[in-house]
Amino acid sequence: MAKKYDLVIVGGGTSGLEAAKTAAGNGLRVALLERKSRSDKVQRSCAQMFLMNMDSFYNERMHFSREKKKWIFPANNFSVNYKGGYREFYACHFIAPNSEDRIEIGDYEANSSGAGVAAAVFDKTALLQGLFEEGIAAGVDYYMERNVTYVRRVSGGVEVKTAEGDRLVGTFCIAADGINSRLARLTGLNRDRVFLFTASSISYYVTGVEFDRSEMICMGNAYDHSPGGLGSVHFCMLPSVYREDEYWLYVNGDERLDFFTKKSNFSRWFKNVEVTHKRCAVIGAWGPPKEPFMDNIIFVGDSCWFAEAENTGALLSGHRAANAVCEALHTGKPNRDGVKNYISWWKRNWSETHDYRDFLCYAVFFRIFSEDELNYLHKTITQKLFWSINPFNLYGHITRGIKPYMDKIKKERPSLAEKLENFTPAQATAMMKPATRIGFPAYR
Ligand SMILES: Cc1cc2nc3c(=O)[nH]c(=O)nc-3n(C[C@H](O)[C@H](O)[C@H](O)COP(=O)(O)OP(=O)(O)OC[C@H]3O[C@@H](n4cnc5c(N)ncnc54)[C@H](O)[C@@H]3O)c2cc1C
Repeated sequence: MAKKYDLVIVGGGTSGLEAAKTAAGNGLRVALLERKSRSDKVQRSCAQMFLMNMDSFYNERMHFSREKKKWIFPANNFSVNYKGGYREFYACHFIAPNSEDRIEIGDYEANSSGAGVAAAVFDKTALLQGLFEEGIAAGVDYYMERNVTYVRRVSGGVEVKTAEGDRLVGTFCIAADGINSRLARLTGLNRDRVFLFTASSISYYVTGVEFDRSEMICMGNAYDHSPGGLGSVHFCMLPSVYREDEYWLYVNGDERLDFFTKKSNFSRWFKNVEVTHKRCAVIGAWGPPKEPFMDNIIFVGDSCWFAEAENTGALLSGHRAANAVCEALHTGKPNRDGVKNYISWWKRNWSETHDYRDFLCYAVFFRIFSEDELNYLHKTITQKLFWSINPFNLYGHITRGIKPYMDKIKKERPSLAEKLENFTPAQATAMMKPATRIGFPAYR
């Protein structure tokens, strides 16, 4: 016999745990099924960075209360308990291949002297632990080590089955099963979405790093021109929450890490480098669906978003979806109409205000230039640009920041100016084509 709940949640990551504790806290009978033995066992790559209230994300400006030990989401009117580490940083620097010149986003000096907190890193394990414990206190039934393999609309709700033999029925189901969502595939949600690419990501925690203005996120490309070499090696580095002398470093793979830290122009930062641990992720990126709802299944977090909803988006959508289920059940509308507030909130703050092509433009923009052109560009843009690391806005900020220098660039580097002027979202999408081809067609 199936166990009956008001709400069955698939996935115990950030979005699922937030949905579970919120719904159970509002008095609903809630089950959460998670494939791993512990929700807080973080194995997937994550830079663990929150964009703070100097910029908005999904129209929210969050902040951290040290006193209350809570992440506060004022526009959405909720908070999340958090007892883990916290480290602020002050800017985002794109660094030239020569490792010297920088395009600066945000004012490091002003922010580090107290003008504002651009962003902060957090401990995802502690975040998930806090959410899990709040769920226990609220009465969530957790089913751990359960792999959900089946989901179907039945009379009275949604039936969910696991490989381990469980059968649960919820009046509603929340799909919180992450970027490669099985529920999005099983329900057919992906059918009308544009498949963009599959990408792998490997990131490292490293100690023994020394560079100036270290409390920031820095990104760039190093170049390996040796015969049969790696070509351009992209990196991204930011402070780690675990140790003061530790950094999170994305360089995709051991060979690239070795080149970047030992042989590239950046190796002077890494004289005493040691890798403490590494994490990885596989990302199947899709355009957004028409709406995050199908047959009484509500989609939250990464399960229905382009690439990463980030933990901010996961928390906001998990919270909003749980409240919508509560409202639907209390108003006697256990159907799409009952959760229409979530659907319209999601459309308004997600798909209607974020264009995934802006994300793609930012992701590939610096790759259209040669090493020499990148060095020139980084030397030329001397003015600090407006702060944002919202990946959907960053491309716009960078191109607006370059505009005042266009006359100079046209005069000194006409072919570089042409590249800048001719770069379009269509070109960015075309650059992703090889990754689209090697994606997993089975996801359809
Ligand atoms: C390289 C990289 C860097 C990132 N950096 C940041 C950052 O700096 N800041 C930030 O906020 N975000 C960052 N993110 C994104 C962030 O990690 C995700 O957006 C966030 O974790 C999404 O939460 P979620 O709950 O939607 O999904 P997830 O956290 O992926 O949770 C999904 C859960 O569902 C479970 N699950 C999946 N399938 C099943 C199944 N069939 N049955 C049962 N359980 C299942 C999984 O085990 C998992 O626990 C980054 C991601 C990557 C890859």
